[in-house]
Amino acid sequence: MAQRVSIVTGAASGIGRATALALAAQGDAVLVADLDGAGAERTAAEITAAGGVAVGRAVNVASAEDCEAAVGAAASLGELRALVNVAGIAADPDTVESISDADLERLWSVNVGAVFRLGRHAIPLLRAAGGGAIVTTSSVHAYATMTGNAAYAASKGALVALTRQLALDLAPDGIRSVCVAPGSVDTPLTRRELARRGLSAADAGFDDSGSTTAIGRVARPEEIAAVIAWVAGDAASVVNGTTVVADAGLLAR
Ligand code: NAD
Repeated sequence: MAQRVSIVTGAASGIGRATALALAAQGDAVLVADLDGAGAERTAAEITAAGGVAVGRAVNVASAEDCEAAVGAAASLGELRALVNVAGIAADPDTVESISDADLERLWSVNVGAVFRLGRHAIPLLRAAGGGAIVTTSSVHAYATMTGNAAYAASKGALVALTRQLALDLAPDGIRSVCVAPGSVDTPLTRRELARRGLSAADAGFDDSGSTTAIGRVARPEEIAAVIAWVAGDAASVVNGTTVVADAGLLAR
């Protein structure tokens, strides 16, 4: 059996880091990709220290050259079976009236364009492997509004639609496409967003006050990573073209 390989973007931090560790624990060799190359190498070192196989690499998912090279590096580890797109950014400010064209284009390129840029090189390898999965990371904000979140929410909604489209286009090749939409997760991104909005961690429910979720706390990155690793793996063989909302019950309130 060929070695299964996954590419995880945004894997220096937060959900991406936890996802790289979870996929490695499932037996995948992991191409750990992040704009923060030193951080990517740290995650890869954590995996190898635990007995897994990983390579950390500086990758800007907004760069076509970087994306092509990242897929090539993954292919050298074995058989590519999953492209896991986790890298994502928010914008500040983020209303239709206030966001600059440069910030809008950057956000769209990282959050949505990257799936196309990586996908065009990854899909032929997934097809050659007899199938696999493309995972995107949306957000509960594809569904739930929040003031000052226009471009971010629009980009996360686009991933829900793209996931459905990819599922249809790639089903003949045995390639599944699944989107995961986390709610609030305690990561550096969330902490930065809270600070930008002048909120304390307690305001946002980080003190387990239950103010934002049905289960009374926000998620840990490892809990979202478990969902992503499951949908990326063969165990989720009939999960396709859909979005798994992992929001600790936020939308249920
Ligand atoms: P994070 O900021 O902790 O990690 C994001 C990682 O992406 C960072 O390591 C960063 O360096 C990397 N990155 C940014 N731009 C990049 C680029 N151009 N090329 C390559 N890597 C790049 O964020 P997180 O909270 O772990 O979020 C991960 C994903 O989950 C994002 O797509 C985010 O929108 C989504 N999400 C997060 C939450 C949450 O509550 N944290 C909720 C819903 C969805």
